[in-house]
Amino acid sequence: MTREAATIDRMPEDALLRKAWEAAAAVPDPEIPVVTVADLGILREVRLEGGVAIARVSPTYSGCPATQLIEAAIAAALEKAGFEARIERVLSPPWTTDWITEEGREKLRAFGIAPPENAAGKRALFGQDRVACPRCGSDDTERVSEFGSTPCKAHYRCRACGEPFDHFKCI
Ligand SMILES: [Zn+2]
Repeated sequence: MTREAATIDRMPEDALLRKAWEAAAAVPDPEIPVVTVADLGILREVRLEGGVAIARVSPTYSGCPATQLIEAAIAAALEKAGFEARIERVLSPPWTTDWITEEGREKLRAFGIAPPENAAGKRALFGQDRVACPRCGSDDTERVSEFGSTPCKAHYRCRACGEPFDHFKCI
């Protein structure tokens, strides 16, 4: 038994659960390391069952190559915190960009990625999402290509300040 695990044996259940949640929630997204899996809403829940920390994880985009990386990173973080870890992949209800926290949106914007609008957010005419430039805030932007640096993002350019940027696609 490691020293971490020995310490864990003496912790009350709620403190243990908090420790497990904090360990899992701090895992950065492999594609956008400024946001954590908790910021993105990918980490749904952590619960304890007989000393095993079970993290429920919703993949973002189906087929997103980062999903397995994320699951492995969360398991590793839980193990490092002294838990035996198990990951449960939750497909229903499906993840949506609405689950990204306010803090997560703020971090994306600061990183130069236009965060997705909430479903209730503004829509432009012609059915295409209007995306505000993360640098100057202008709405006068155009989509350059459907795929940005990863399949989850589209590449945009701002007509006002000329800055290219990625937009986290809405789903
Ligand atoms: Zn701009």
